[in-house]
Amino acid sequence: MDRRSLCVSEVGEDASCVLGYACAMVTFVRIPSWWNRRSAHPENVMSPLDIGYAIALLERRGVQAHLLDIEATNASPDAVRRALLDRSPETVVLHAITPAIPDALSLARFVKERIPSTRKVVLVGQHASVLPASVLGPASPIDLCIRGEFERKIVEVATAPTFDATGTATAQQVSETVLELDDLDELPFPSHELFRSPRYRVFHPTGVRRRWRWGFILSSRGCPHSCVYCSPTLRNSFGSRYRTRSCGNVVAELRHLQDLGFTLAHFKDDLFTLHKERIHELCDAILSAGLRLPWTAQTRPDAVDEPLLRAMKRAGCHTLGMGVETGSARMVQQLRKGNRIDDVRNAFRWARAAGLRTVAFFILGSPGETEADVSETWQIMREIEPSMIQVAFFTPYPGSAAWDASLSASHDPTSFSHYNAVVNLSAIPTDRLQRLQRRFYLDFLTRTGFVREYARSEWLPALINADKFLPFLKLSASFLMRR
Ligand code: SF4
Repeated sequence: MDRRSLCVSEVGEDASCVLGYACAMVTFVRIPSWWNRRSAHPENVMSPLDIGYAIALLERRGVQAHLLDIEATNASPDAVRRALLDRSPETVVLHAITPAIPDALSLARFVKERIPSTRKVVLVGQHASVLPASVLGPASPIDLCIRGEFERKIVEVATAPTFDATGTATAQQVSETVLELDDLDELPFPSHELFRSPRYRVFHPTGVRRRWRWGFILSSRGCPHSCVYCSPTLRNSFGSRYRTRSCGNVVAELRHLQDLGFTLAHFKDDLFTLHKERIHELCDAILSAGLRLPWTAQTRPDAVDEPLLRAMKRAGCHTLGMGVETGSARMVQQLRKGNRIDDVRNAFRWARAAGLRTVAFFILGSPGETEADVSETWQIMREIEPSMIQVAFFTPYPGSAAWDASLSASHDPTSFSHYNAVVNLSAIPTDRLQRLQRRFYLDFLTRTGFVREYARSEWLPALINADKFLPFLKLSASFLMRR
């Protein structure tokens, strides 16, 4: 029997999420925070580029690797265990954030007990980076935590000849530093072939009248700002040191995505426009290359100006997400955002003038936030007229400046969720906060002009992609009708 097709059918998913080999040596498992639980708030599912890079590097070294992406497939625990049993990989790499750690440990125990050929179970991602000691210990099934950008390190781990020469696990370890890769142009492109599933998508309105097939790309890593709520849970890269790829290298990858059949691209950069000259150069390079791949990105409101936004629009940018978080200058300070409310006003005005759609990200429940602060946020939301909003709750994930070890005495961080107000440090009762979140959405959806504008620009894309759009509508409706 063809082993690949067996594995694919076992997890019940399409082949683009699962690439297998007859003698797989490394299996990556991406475990979402909501596995086996229902999440009422619709969430984007972006392809795990760090795993894609690691797989590309492993393949360069002749190491066979594959991915079980539970976030994209929603495979059941039984299906994932069966797929692991079938593959019997030598190294299992679990990719999990703090809320997914109980599931990661349970899967690691299963591997240790049932798959004797697996010599190492490695944990990567935000939790391994910031709280490695919490998962290592005499009874732990985790052998190694890699902190930070693990792509190169995992190749060392998988290919080290002495790593487990006896066939038994060596002492538990944690990589000493939080890794931040420098040579970004030296990396191969991530294995995008793995990510062709239509389940990878973002909910941004784009107006793009094609079948949606989202490709993802990372042109820079790091962010020098220090917003108190920011943590590797919410980030796509590590560290404050901003590192960039050359424009030629980025354009080559965009072309690769286009050639693979992706019809939209999303830049996962944490702060896409920090260096404005670089983005001007990138936009020129995209135009010169004659690419026809519409794209979206996200940034801070104080990192744009009108000429830049116009250049981005000309180069195929359809939608820009920006972190507004709050309309209260007091809360901006509290969050250590470092921007002005006027930056928000200007950025959204310029984006509209440039013809870009916008997504505004808001946070409710920040430390000390009052109803008066929320009213100011409400005002700014109405004023800037974004094309879409996302409203999350302030959550001091481990790794953020707001995370305080004393919090763990009263809150289990594995229960944290920025879509459920689990930790409430504001002056507003939790049930009121939850209601405010829904009111933000309802107010936004019912405001004059939104339905008309959305229907005008998105009806055809939604019709062409009805199979993807209707589930999103259903999820959104069930979230808004939640009591
Ligand atoms: S929230 Fe955004 S701008 Fe703030 S530190 Fe994190 S990545 Fe940087």
